[in-house]
Amino acid sequence: MKPRILDLSYSEVAELAITLGEPSYRADQVLRWIYSGAARSFDEMSDLPRAFRRKLNESCRLFTLEPVDEKVSKDGQTRKVLFRLEDNKTIESAYMLYEATESSRERRTVCVSTQVGCPIRCPFCATGQQGFERNLTAGEIVEQVLYFVWLTRGVGQDGAALPPARRPLTNVVFMGMGEPLANYESLKGAIARLNSKTGLGLGARQITVSTVGLVPQIQRLAREDIRVELAVSLHGATDRVRNILVPVNRRYPLARLIPACQEYLKMTGRRPTFEYALFNGINDSLDQAQKLAELLAGFPCHVNLIVGNPTPGKGFRPSVPRRVAAFRKELTDAGVSNTLRQSRGADIEAGCGQLRSRRLPNGA
Ligand code: SAH
Repeated sequence: MKPRILDLSYSEVAELAITLGEPSYRADQVLRWIYSGAARSFDEMSDLPRAFRRKLNESCRLFTLEPVDEKVSKDGQTRKVLFRLEDNKTIESAYMLYEATESSRERRTVCVSTQVGCPIRCPFCATGQQGFERNLTAGEIVEQVLYFVWLTRGVGQDGAALPPARRPLTNVVFMGMGEPLANYESLKGAIARLNSKTGLGLGARQITVSTVGLVPQIQRLAREDIRVELAVSLHGATDRVRNILVPVNRRYPLARLIPACQEYLKMTGRRPTFEYALFNGINDSLDQAQKLAELLAGFPCHVNLIVGNPTPGKGFRPSVPRRVAAFRKELTDAGVSNTLRQSRGADIEAGCGQLRSRRLPNGA
């Protein structure tokens, strides 16, 4: 199988150029076309020698994800794309536009998947119900982002022009299907390409890794050169409650998880965010809110509350507005920095935890 060029590091692309009889600076030209020029084929790279373009076509693959379904939410702010991979497995990615508010700038965010399915099996998450099929490669992760880079240049599938904001995307969040830290090498490769000047050039602060809380990998991420933002899916303030929602808590209980997050802050200077999806009668009591405030007392961090999204099966229902408000007030009164995030794209099943591949007509 020919290598996928997006799976190669910068130096490997330079080596490839040399192997094909060209100077190594050709790597910069090719990558500039891919990341800044939004080129979709080697043939478009018009300032490269024709013979080199032909050799590139013969020796490697460029884009390998095929968009097979796209849905746009009613408000036009969220777009979900189902991609078919080369082995016919499918993954989903989402693109979200956020208008500026008093406290935040306008954002255009891509939410990427890192695995087909997920090995963690959180009972309230649609992906967790599918089981685990395989890891994505670094290139397959980056390709999801590049698809939206290309879209924002104004062309959609079938070449149709798109109305929403055409300005460059500002953020990438690893919050799609899968557990990013369970696919560490691909995650690391993808972050490198997103951050690099010879890649997409996104700032490390514009990249967020969301994890279920794998302690050794959080410690490893804290020591990487690229200091990305960390989000941890907490969903429970005591081991008893968190064990129900996030089964991996039995392996990495709160007494290990919270110190690892504190270490992350110490090593990187980045304040972790704790995600807390509220489910009616399960983790939304005032007692849990108080325990959460105690757990995080004195820790400079942020809590992102989300009203749980309904997913098929199981008895996890969204928390009702009155309980959400009471939970939030308890945190705020205790001095815990928090926001209530509106889950986006729920009408197209693109909300948190709702991404899932559906059966395609050809049975894939
Ligand atoms: N595996 C990673 C990233 C994937 S999901 C993680 O667990 O963090 C991104 C976020 O969506 C996680 O916080 C996850 O717990 C949350 N989520 C999953 N299902 C949800 C649901 N039904 N309602 C609300 N949030 C959900």
